[in-house]
Amino acid sequence: MSSHDTSHGTPPVDRQRMDVDIVCVGFGPATDGFLTTLSRELVNADGTPKLESAVMPGAPPQIVCYERADDIGFSVSGVVTRARGIRRTFPDLDPSQIPLATSVRHEKVLYLLDPVGASRRSLTLRIADKLIRGCRWMLPFEAEALDLPYTPPFLRKEGGLVLSLGQFNQWVGSQLLGAGTVQIWPGTPVAAPLVDGNRVEGVRLLDQGTDKYGAPEAGFMAGMDIHAALTVVADGPVGPVSSQIDRQFGMPTGHHKHDWAVGMKLVVNLPENCTLEPGTVWHTFGYPEPEIFGFLYVYPDRVASLGIFVPSWFESPVRTAYRYLQHWMLHPYLWRHLNGGTLRSWGAKTLAESGQRGEPHLVGNGYARIGEGSGSTNVLTGSGVDEAWTTGVQLAEGVIELLQEKKPFTKENLEAAYVKRRRSSWVETEGRTAKRARDGFHHGVVTGLFGMALAGVTKGVLDIPVKPRRPRDHTPTLAEYYRGRIPKSEVTKICQDCAAKNVSSHNALMDRVGWPTIPYDGKLLVSHQDALLMGGKVQAPAGYADHVVFLYPELCEICGTRICIEVCSGQAITPGGNGVPTFDREKCIHCGACVWNCATPHPEDPERSVLEFRAGAGGLHSAEN
Ligand SMILES: Cc1cc2nc3c(=O)[nH]c(=O)nc-3n(C[C@H](O)[C@H](O)[C@H](O)COP(=O)(O)OP(=O)(O)OC[C@H]3O[C@@H](n4cnc5c(N)ncnc54)[C@H](O)[C@@H]3O)c2cc1C
Ligand code: SF4
Ligand code: SF4
Repeated sequence: MSSHDTSHGTPPVDRQRMDVDIVCVGFGPATDGFLTTLSRELVNADGTPKLESAVMPGAPPQIVCYERADDIGFSVSGVVTRARGIRRTFPDLDPSQIPLATSVRHEKVLYLLDPVGASRRSLTLRIADKLIRGCRWMLPFEAEALDLPYTPPFLRKEGGLVLSLGQFNQWVGSQLLGAGTVQIWPGTPVAAPLVDGNRVEGVRLLDQGTDKYGAPEAGFMAGMDIHAALTVVADGPVGPVSSQIDRQFGMPTGHHKHDWAVGMKLVVNLPENCTLEPGTVWHTFGYPEPEIFGFLYVYPDRVASLGIFVPSWFESPVRTAYRYLQHWMLHPYLWRHLNGGTLRSWGAKTLAESGQRGEPHLVGNGYARIGEGSGSTNVLTGSGVDEAWTTGVQLAEGVIELLQEKKPFTKENLEAAYVKRRRSSWVETEGRTAKRARDGFHHGVVTGLFGMALAGVTKGVLDIPVKPRRPRDHTPTLAEYYRGRIPKSEVTKICQDCAAKNVSSHNALMDRVGWPTIPYDGKLLVSHQDALLMGGKVQAPAGYADHVVFLYPELCEICGTRICIEVCSGQAITPGGNGVPTFDREKCIHCGACVWNCATPHPEDPERSVLEFRAGAGGLHSAEN
């Protein structure tokens, strides 16, 4: 069996070396919290060092953070957050100082019924829908939606904040850069950790001036090796540095990363007659498919952040977030507030939904993990930003302690200084409550909702005992999924026609089972391609290797679902001509959905798939997501 080279295409070349004290991978909320806390303890008011660098004696510790995206504000998130950790760092935080931020005011949960009759609903849901419609006159039912009279306490974010993650990152980043005590380098992907035995010694930056396979071309610049006493890994849910460390050191017994979701969102200028107030927070479920959850958060000045989550337990091989997002917006309950609005930005990103069960080894010799990639996201409360921030703060407090005591960053010392803090905090206790909260969804939506309520009410003591399965362990083929709705021969014909046009099949299949055509208005309802152009613009700087790689083309040729094509958030993966999908870096928005959706396990490691998501430059260029 042949395999593409997985060595990042790097030939043996001389690499420049730089030595720093601490190197961070990724600038998201986790690193925001880490650097904000640490930077306050580096220098005295008179400018003299409070702590001393080991690589530059006499100076404060040299701390560098590398961010893959083109700027420090290019993230994708909701965000509604209780902001407990963020407020602890900024006790006088005034949301009006952060663009697009406001306090949470009205929160509600909506059950959306299917107004078009195209979604796949279980018998239980169909009976429930009939009952709701039959009793509509006595229920808070309006525009095909049931306004639940009660928001479960675990979902409530009263007293919290609605934020744009891009704007929040920029706000934090500008304070850090203004203080001048740490360096942040956007547009600088980290290719790999530097591992020596059982120790991480720093990171290697991505080679530049290569062809798409990583081979040097004119202007080749080998990625620099950054050596550091501590490497802080905060590259998010599908970070390539995180996954290489997981491969190197393994996962703790019983832990796994099997549950995922892709979140796709828009930032929208609401129409002038829209009456939604800033601070409005809506959570939805039930439509466009029962498995798909939605959110709508209203910022000041009639701007809203809205989107959907397509989870890994959704038993569909056409799990296209973009088309579903449009049907969700067109739901009558939402559309009456959105009709006439315009798209400001758009994006998608993976969420690590295994939560605490996906927690890797948090520390090792020379490295520490923080944020979503470290299993901090709470899948019961739907909250990841404040948790990521808080793990960053906890690591910073531990690092300050170790630097003050002049102790090295060994596994043992990091356990005592960081992991101990984390274990005794709300991130840990609430994460434990949430640990199995969503397992019930592997038995259907109704069981899933019951499981969440059970975990919430009993603080995680009771749950639905189900073993979470990876998408590839339960996703049927297209023919199996559409059995009874489209004859197998017709499914094959639709797929062949789409492959001949080099497009994914989901649009044609969804049209065929009754999903209405999207009435494009050129403002908010735009084609997928237009969203790539209008929603922030995709950047793919030349001279980098492809970061999505099909490791075993011969296994792609016999793949039953070719789901990577259907899920692709940017239409960057297309059928290709020879049975192996093709990847177009110019369209990739780095959502990471292709890697965990891929239908085929890696022949040497069942925890991996045969699609590899490596470090890459560019992505969606939007500061509002
Ligand atoms: C659509 C959507 C809605 C959400 N809504 C909410 C919400 O309402 N409330 C909430 O609390 N949470 C929400 N979340 C989750 C929340 O966004 C995450 O939990 C949070 O952003 C995690 O922070 P992090 O710092 O761990 O990782 P990230 O925010 O993912 O940051 C990681 C950073 O690392 C960078 N990076 C990755 N690889 C490399 C590399 N090789 N080299 C250099 N840099 C790299 C990335 O570009 C990124 O900037 C939502 C997520 C999505 C996708
Ligand atoms: S990358 Fe995975 S999902 Fe895509 S065709 Fe290959 S095996 Fe199938
Ligand atoms: S190719 Fe890019 S845009 Fe498409 S699913 Fe993979 S990461 Fe997302």
